[in-house]
Amino acid sequence: MQTEIRKAGPESMEKAAGLLLSGELVAIPTETVYGLAATGLDPLAVQKIFAAKGRPATDPLILHLPSPDLKVAVESGVLAQPIPHCAFHLAKAFWPGPLTLVLPRGSKVPDEVTSGLSSVAVRYPAHPVAQKLLQRVGVPLAAPSANRFGRISPTDAEAVREELDGKIPLILDGGKCETGVESTVLSLLDDEPLILRPGKITAAEIGGVLGKAPKTQSLALQKDNAMPSPGLLESHYAPLTPLYLTDQPITQFPAGLEYIHYQSPQKNLEPNRRALCPNDDPYSAAQNLYRLLREADAGGAKAILIEPIPDSPIAPALRDRLHRASSGTARWDGHRWQFTAKK
Ligand code: AMP
Ligand code: MG
Repeated sequence: MQTEIRKAGPESMEKAAGLLLSGELVAIPTETVYGLAATGLDPLAVQKIFAAKGRPATDPLILHLPSPDLKVAVESGVLAQPIPHCAFHLAKAFWPGPLTLVLPRGSKVPDEVTSGLSSVAVRYPAHPVAQKLLQRVGVPLAAPSANRFGRISPTDAEAVREELDGKIPLILDGGKCETGVESTVLSLLDDEPLILRPGKITAAEIGGVLGKAPKTQSLALQKDNAMPSPGLLESHYAPLTPLYLTDQPITQFPAGLEYIHYQSPQKNLEPNRRALCPNDDPYSAAQNLYRLLREADAGGAKAILIEPIPDSPIAPALRDRLHRASSGTARWDGHRWQFTAKK
């Protein structure tokens, strides 16, 4: 199959809508990362997502709603009662935006979307192209990140091509993703809301609406529980080149490795050195993260080393993704870098 990249505009979006409505896949821009979309209530279309990504059927998908109104989602069989009151407040406060809510699943949602769970993850995205397309097709779109399973999420159209060339007919190019990391996933199934995946919307911001900040499910807990949150694997979002986290700024640069600084006062860095956050805006580090990992991955090095992420509202999301992407930690012993594998 030939994969076409087309700038998002009236014609290409009409083509995208046609493909989606006939059960095909289209990669679409969202404000978080590019999504691999299929109509979310058609089991055959949804199965194609798993095939193209190589994603295990046990990893449920997020449904992108055609409207931010949760009542409409209940009426159309996407969600089921009881929807907790706080869900309405959270949707009002953060939608359109990068917050995914896990809620009771409606009767119209196929098992393929939820991996057979009785809950379903939903959000209403902020990217104008995603919104227009959702409005045009009129049904929810299942759209996980448009990368092969376990690999780095794409944050521009070219990165989608690197991942899925020949596997999908169309990539809609809507420019670089504004957020750059996947949405915050918040479960509202129990009395105590729980963050399953940190993202740009923080526990503190959610707490501002709920009256109390939700806990974040720790990686350790995810490892211990048999089925804590399906799909939240400890190893994920990973480059092919092993990535190691350092516990201090990197000051030694032996050849054969790739180095990612958080910030660097130096202007013209050597080709194997990159800076995640060239300005003082921590959100730009999130925007740049996956592109830089891709570039470092292409460098042909033995390993990629990355500096610690300083505290900021987006830091928990960045640390979470880096931890999952990493093979372990690296430390300079005075002579060389020593690597310790992740347990
Ligand atoms: P993505 O690959 O960005 O679409 O992320 C989807 C992730 O959301 C999955 O990997 C799960 O971790 C989480 N998720 C989706 N549906 C559910 C659900 N019903 N219950 C818990 N987590 C879910
Ligand atoms: Mg993903």
